[in-house]
Amino acid sequence: MLMNSFSSFSMREELTRAISDLGFETPTPIQLKVIPQLLSEPIDIIGLAQTGTGKTAAYGIPLLHHADLTAKHVQCLVLSPTRELCMQIQEELSKYGTHMRGLRITAVYGGVPITGQIREIRANPQVVVATPGRLIDLLERKAINLDKVEYVILDEADEMLNMGFREDIDLILKNTPAREHTWLFSATMSNEVRGIAKRFMKDWKEYSVSAPNTTNENIDHQYFVANHHNRFETLRRLLDFAPGIYGIIFTRTKSDAQEVSEKLMKMGYHVSPLHGDMDQKMRTKVMDRFKAKQLQAIVATDVAARGIDVNDITHVINYELPDDPEVYTHRSGRTARAGKSGICMSIVSPKQISNIRQIERLVKQKFHKSDIPDGAEVVRKKLFFYLEQIATAEPQADFAKLYWDVMHEQFADMDKDELIRKLIWLQLRETIDAYQDAEDLNAGFESKGRDRGERGERSFNNKSVRLFINLGEKDGINTGKLIQFITDSSDIEPGLIDRVTVRDMSSFFNVPGDAAEGLMEMLGSKKFKGRKVRLDVADQPMGGSGGGGGRPWERGGDRGSDRGGDFRGKPKAASSRYSGDVKAYGGGGGYKGKRK
Ligand code: AMP
Repeated sequence: MLMNSFSSFSMREELTRAISDLGFETPTPIQLKVIPQLLSEPIDIIGLAQTGTGKTAAYGIPLLHHADLTAKHVQCLVLSPTRELCMQIQEELSKYGTHMRGLRITAVYGGVPITGQIREIRANPQVVVATPGRLIDLLERKAINLDKVEYVILDEADEMLNMGFREDIDLILKNTPAREHTWLFSATMSNEVRGIAKRFMKDWKEYSVSAPNTTNENIDHQYFVANHHNRFETLRRLLDFAPGIYGIIFTRTKSDAQEVSEKLMKMGYHVSPLHGDMDQKMRTKVMDRFKAKQLQAIVATDVAARGIDVNDITHVINYELPDDPEVYTHRSGRTARAGKSGICMSIVSPKQISNIRQIERLVKQKFHKSDIPDGAEVVRKKLFFYLEQIATAEPQADFAKLYWDVMHEQFADMDKDELIRKLIWLQLRETIDAYQDAEDLNAGFESKGRDRGERGERSFNNKSVRLFINLGEKDGINTGKLIQFITDSSDIEPGLIDRVTVRDMSSFFNVPGDAAEGLMEMLGSKKFKGRKVRLDVADQPMGGSGGGGGRPWERGGDRGSDRGGDFRGKPKAASSRYSGDVKAYGGGGGYKGKRK
């Protein structure tokens, strides 16, 4: 028997069975620390652990182990900050207690009629999971009696205090005269949290596990610098640049969540708000749709998002940074769960860059400053996404059997190139239209797409030129490695390279104008891992360039004259079938020719 397995814990057989049914193999670190202690001697404890660490089972298993199923009164009380969390805890505890006959667990929380909950309390559950506000309401109505409660768990104590429940918690704890065991769980330890312990707990032991997500190396932290008035447009662009997104967009206020979400919905995005001003029914509906992947993102406030228990979030977007850097870790920890990787993007104003530095220190990870993509990049990204979708689609076996002949007939005289162009055009037309004159949203560079000359001129006046290089993450490149490669392969000083943006297949960086030409020549003859390196000016002045280069998809296609290379790593079918056409689609003209 392994010492660190669930079977090494001496607990009720029904619990061992339920855990085995659930497929839990090894206890998480907080469970390993807390469960044996609380099973053998349920002393007062403080557990410092975040959501996602398995803390519910850490206290839930010992709690159910000690529960007296013959009792006809409330023995165990779990307090938690939000209704979502209450429901989640009840669900979780019910799973562990599924084989315990006679066990009743009830959750009571605001936002739904109280009468149904009063009825449930009358059925004498042994375990009640409650939000402080609703519990006080029930106490005032004398609908619940806490006189015989022996176990009290404060789950997410820091969050309850943040939400202003301090007095309610005090009142509730004072109303539990038979309380013998108090277990407090919190993601962070503050004086206020310690204050509760001092007032209501005796000789407690503290257990802490490092927050799983503060140092989660699977999260790529990126930030985008935009002026305040461009925040929404930036969000929109980031969404368009992540066509397969399954994400959470965080706002600071409920009204922002509502407003941002409504604006996005009007534009055709599959999103929905999630905040405390929505009634419970609505929130449950939103969560159901999100879990069923009918929504690409939800726009949520921190409090409302606490209850989201979804493992495959691809992106977290901070529409605004939170005031408290700790909150950032809660937000970013929504992605890259269960060993997956994820991206946390933050839209910041130039003044907020110092906040990023502060968060970097907390999460002990470097944030990547990324450029807000331009129209060409968005169109290109969507194109590639679509191509990949086509390449990997698995149509039903007898799909369109009935119409097969008609379809063939319809396209009999159309060659493959034309068919592809038409299909792709239909798919991308809206994006292309939307990004025709896309503004540069990067703070300090805003100007209408059609006036790009201004930006370019400014760049050149500043003697800074933005270069494109055909090496990206897929080549094992990151910012440091790229700078290393450039400096090793040329005579440029590392300090002259800035604004590095590493993307999947390519990267961008700025160098002084007088160094650009020489650098392109020197690097142009180099190879990286056997592949020829290609450099180009990424943001050539467009002013007066006429039609050639003004249209985003053409610019994208042109700049990507190596785009065949972009299919490295993509399914073979996509590469062989489409690479040539993408180039054709990218079209002629463009600024590359002009430069030379
Ligand atoms: P929590 O931190 O309590 O919100 O738990 C996060 C998730 O991890 C929940 O979905 C639990 O069901 C799951 N979980 C808890 N303990 C384990 C374990 N030992 N092994 C696998 N999954 C677990």
